[in-house]
Parts: sequence; C-alpha cells; structure tokens
Amino acid sequence: STPILEVNDLKKHFPIRAGFFGGTTGYVYAVDGVSFSIAKGETLSLVGESGCGKSTVGKAILRLFDITAGQVVLDGQRIDDMPYGTLRPMRRRMQVVFQDPFSSLNPRMRVRDLLAEPIRNFGLAKDSADLERRVGDLMDRVRLPRDAVNRWPHEFSGGQRQRICIARALAAEPDLIICDEAVSALDVSVKAQIVNLLQDLQKELGLAMLFISHDLAIVEHMTHRVAVMYLGKIVEVAPKRQLFAAPKHPYTEALLSAVPVPEPGAARERIILKGDVPSPIKPPKGCRFHTRCPYAFDRCRQDEPQLRQTEDGHFAACHLHDLPAADNPLAGARGA
Ligand code: SF4
Ligand code: MG
Repeated sequence: STPILEVNDLKKHFPIRAGFFGGTTGYVYAVDGVSFSIAKGETLSLVGESGCGKSTVGKAILRLFDITAGQVVLDGQRIDDMPYGTLRPMRRRMQVVFQDPFSSLNPRMRVRDLLAEPIRNFGLAKDSADLERRVGDLMDRVRLPRDAVNRWPHEFSGGQRQRICIARALAAEPDLIICDEAVSALDVSVKAQIVNLLQDLQKELGLAMLFISHDLAIVEHMTHRVAVMYLGKIVEVAPKRQLFAAPKHPYTEALLSAVPVPEPGAARERIILKGDVPSPIKPPKGCRFHTRCPYAFDRCRQDEPQLRQTEDGHFAACHLHDLPAADNPLAGARGA
C-alpha cells in the first residue's frame, strides 16, 4: 500500500549572511539529500548526534520552512510545494511532539482548552458534548485522570506534561506523529513510561511514527526500522534487529558500541571516534565520515558512497561493501 510518508532527496541548505545587509557567503548543508519512507502504522527512528540534521528533516516534513530541493509526499500527495492555504487538512494528519513539554504548552490555558483547541481548529467535534467526550477520551488514552482537565500546565510534572503534549497531538486524529527528542529531557524512569505509552498508542491507533532521537538505547525499545544520519545524510537504514545485530556502516558500529548492554560480560568494545563532527558548512569530500572512520581507505577521500542494499531491507553508504568479504570488517554478523 501507499506509504504514509515518503521523503525523496530532501535538501535544506541554510544561507549564511555576512551581516545584516551582507550577501550570502555560504551555506549550512543541514540536510543534503535524504530519502526514506514510512509505512502506515510503522515507526522509523532517525538517529544521529546533535547537529546531524535530523531535527531539520522533521521540521521540513512539517513545513515549518520551505525546503531547498526534493519532495515530501504524505499518503501519495506531494505537500512540500502545496500552497499554505490548502496544506491545512494535510497538516492535521501529521502532528508533532517536541522535547520540551515546559515550553510547548501555553501556561495560560487549562488542559481542557489545550486539548479542545486542535479539535475545534480542525472541526472534528459534532457539538459541545462530542468535544467534551473527545477531551475525556484523550485523557484516558494518555493515562491521565479525567478530572485533571481543569488544571493548569504548571501543576503537572515533566512526564505528565509530555502526556498532555501527546494527547494534544492525538486530538487532531493524525496518521503520523513526529517525536523530536520527545523523551530526551525526562528522567530515566519517566522516559521508560513515556516510551511505553507511545508504543501502546501506536499499536492501539495504528499510528505511524517518525521518532527522532540521539539515544540508540531508547530507540531499540521503540522502533521497527532505524535510519542513521551523519552530517546531513543517511548513512544506514535497516530493520531494528538487523541494525543492532550487524551494523553495515562504521558510524553506526561506533554509535552502537556506546550503548550499554543489559547482561554484564556481554559488553561491546567501545569504539572512540577521533576528532569532532566536521562543520556542515564545508563537509569533507568523498565519504563525509572519512575524517573519523577507523576503516577509511584511499577511495573514501575521493568518491562519495551511495546508499545501497547490502542485504534484504538493509542499506548502507560505505565503500567497504565493494571489497571482498575477507577485507570487509562489516561483512557478516557482528562480532563474528
Ligand atoms: Fe569509512 Fe570509507 Fe565506509 Fe566512509 S566509505 S564509512 S570512510 S570505510
Ligand atoms: Mg535536534
């Protein structure tokens, strides 16, 4: 069936200006040719270190700014070039939950009004009784007591506020929820509760989810597939189990080596990458990861590797996969 979301060769380059009246002196290549799709009811996690462009991808999908190039297709309809006037009904179908539940709720609105607002805006309630019923249902959905609708945002804990943000996103009856670091600011125990809630909701409502996170340990519990970003590009995409068991990109391998393993003794050897992430203003030539990659060879400094299939549903952008298996440290199962 048609994917709920398709992103084709998405680019977002932010111009750098010399000063208030200055001309453009260059670009930040924040997102530089990103493609993926999400099936109905599927969770795709977009992971990578801060500054890799993953939040920019989320914002571009939500049309919080115009993109530089590429396409965003929601349920078969292209929305990146849709006039803002006609975009409204499409906007309803994708909702977002941001990291900071403290700043994303209007402190002067009671919970009832926070939830009623999107229902009214999108004309979803038949009458006031239906509106009240919907607000009550949303509280049940996110496991908050119904009588809490009369309270103000400041009366809730961080985790409870994030539940309210989730309820508000659900109020619009979306097909897709974009979670941008939605649990990153929460305490560890609260984090697990919100992750469980999101997972339950996804199953109950058949929602698709784009889960943007820097935290692979959280992602492992959340997702069907994972896409790894580095310096504005996706370097690897795979079903979760395949990616965690046998990453096919050296960057993913390094990220995974930092994820704690539950059983003691099963600890992975930590791979410490040299240097910092290069600037997205002047990304390295060839493979963007070559300045930090432990396996870089001559070709990596010249040719840019393309994302291609290494096994069923598993894609990686790395020249190692052109080498004979004996010379490829990422061939076969991890640690084998
Ligand atoms: Fe490393 Fe080369 Fe693969 Fe890039 S293409 S990830 S530098 S081995
Ligand atoms: Mg971010």
